[in-house]
Amino acid sequence: MRYRTLSSRIARLAAAISLALVAVPAGAQAHSPTCPGTGTDSAVSSPVVIDASIACPDGAPALSVVYAPSVDGIVSLDDKAPTGGAPSDHDDLRFTPITPTGSTPSHVVFGNQTYTLKNVHYHGLAEHKFASQPGFSPLEAHLVHELDGPALGYVVLSVLLNTGDNGWSEHDHLLHEPPSTVGATKNVFAVNLQALLPPPGSRSYYRYTGSLTTPDANHVYYKPVNWIIFSQYGTATQSHISGVHDLWGPNGNKRGLQSNPQPPNIYLK
Ligand SMILES: [Zn+2]
Repeated sequence: MRYRTLSSRIARLAAAISLALVAVPAGAQAHSPTCPGTGTDSAVSSPVVIDASIACPDGAPALSVVYAPSVDGIVSLDDKAPTGGAPSDHDDLRFTPITPTGSTPSHVVFGNQTYTLKNVHYHGLAEHKFASQPGFSPLEAHLVHELDGPALGYVVLSVLLNTGDNGWSEHDHLLHEPPSTVGATKNVFAVNLQALLPPPGSRSYYRYTGSLTTPDANHVYYKPVNWIIFSQYGTATQSHISGVHDLWGPNGNKRGLQSNPQPPNIYLK
């Protein structure tokens, strides 16, 4: 009898220890047969709502961001079909970095592959939203990285931007006095790309596999795209946010939320 009581205590203790070992970050579901399993890892159409309550812990290696400390480049009011005229909903305000000859381009490493930073562009209103938000953030920054190699592949980092009242952010640096006619450009100097992202140490992110949110010349919204949505918001001043909104008018340059037959699996890192 005494032996049986002792062994049941040991069994309870072992169960408590195993529970402690599978503790996961706050906001993420515990590992279980249903995580993942609430959605699909196949590429869905973007954008989507990011529902933190169904996010699974991300077992993939962490994203590594390798940016030059200071880059010059060109800000353009990028003109896609239909070209000319007023800015269309597929056009955007974008910064294209210039890599000096002999320098390593700014890039990210994701899944043991290198993706080079091609541009930083903005959508207003935001395209993605967190389920906890009552509405959309006024802007969303996309940092678009393309796979180095013969195959096409993308990692897009997304920062949702809200109005900041604490001086200029690095996004304000890019959004100040933008070109106002489609196809127009201006030079911008000494951009701190890292400062476009949340501060190091505050870079938890949600990840899912989706599509581009603007079509290519054949009207195809390319898939798959590795989407990384930072959980911390960035900021821009109200005047710069209004400046972007004024270029497009009330409909903005955003793709609406897409309804997918199966929602994406969303992972939290
Ligand atoms: Zn975009």
